[in-house]
Amino acid sequence: MANKRILITGAAGFLGSHLSDRFIKEGYDVVGMDNLITGSLRNIEHLFKLKEFEFYNHDVSRFVHVPGKIDYILHFASPASPIDYLKIPIQTLKVGSLGTHNLLGFAKAVGARMLIASTSEVYGDPDVHPQNEEYWGNVNPVGPRGVYDEAKRFQEAITMAYHTYHNLETRIIRIFNTYGPRMRLDDGRALPAFMGQALRGEDLTVFGDGSQTRSFCYVDDLVEGIYRLLLSDYVHPVNIGNPDEISIKDFAEEIIRLTGTDQKVIYKDLPKDDPKQRQPDITRAKEILGWEPKVSRSEGLKVTLDYFKNLPEFSGK
Ligand code: UDP
Repeated sequence: MANKRILITGAAGFLGSHLSDRFIKEGYDVVGMDNLITGSLRNIEHLFKLKEFEFYNHDVSRFVHVPGKIDYILHFASPASPIDYLKIPIQTLKVGSLGTHNLLGFAKAVGARMLIASTSEVYGDPDVHPQNEEYWGNVNPVGPRGVYDEAKRFQEAITMAYHTYHNLETRIIRIFNTYGPRMRLDDGRALPAFMGQALRGEDLTVFGDGSQTRSFCYVDDLVEGIYRLLLSDYVHPVNIGNPDEISIKDFAEEIIRLTGTDQKVIYKDLPKDDPKQRQPDITRAKEILGWEPKVSRSEGLKVTLDYFKNLPEFSGK
């Protein structure tokens, strides 16, 4: 029997590349698609030699077509860090809205099941804590994060509409902060920023007083949750994240201890609309998918630090 064939958009990105690895390991043929604005071929270089992998350099905001059968689509193309979507706000809006529409149309035409990567950002700066899927969110549509948050909210709405009106098989995952190897060192996120600073011998820049919280999930745990959700029959949104919550100041100090440097934390202005707290309620994922995270922050951070240390910037290789 022919392998199942899956289209993964954003395949050259942090999450897309790990998903490509996982689905190849599970015996799928993977079609990767990326326009390489924020993704990097370095993340998928090792896959090009495999007959199970092919790649299209394409922007999904324009008409999408892939010849041959497609059984599943994972839509993971999008800038995903506040620095990136401040730099390319229009592309961010387009990939979440027009891109999702094109892919839903394609899914309908070929009879594929489609999973979209939504985000904890749909909850905005939440006034419910921890956030469960019933909470509607507190988003500023015209703030700096609006281009990402509203594109993702629209993405959920149009995906649900295709499910309701066209009976399309759809899945929605809300991803909380995730980290691991292949994050971009310069994407401005807290973890690569702190690790990069520690490795360069610079002080770690905490924004605001560092009392804002996040809950960091290791990438392999996230990928497992996505895999289970795709193959489940559940159509409503599911939070996937690690509920282990930490303040950003404590997180920076944890990274200083891990790297064994004598750098300090220094404080900078808090960006506008930076959420004060964030922690996933994963009751639904536990009940429906039998999923919960397995990798502790200390294990995950070690693996991630090794990845950064081995980059040419730091290893000199
Ligand atoms: N942050 C920080 N220093 C940095 C980069 C980020 O203190 O160099 C803060 C940021 O303001 C936010 C938190 O760390 O409160 C997490 O930021 P990230 O961009 O990783 O994720 P998001 O805000 O999208 O959850």
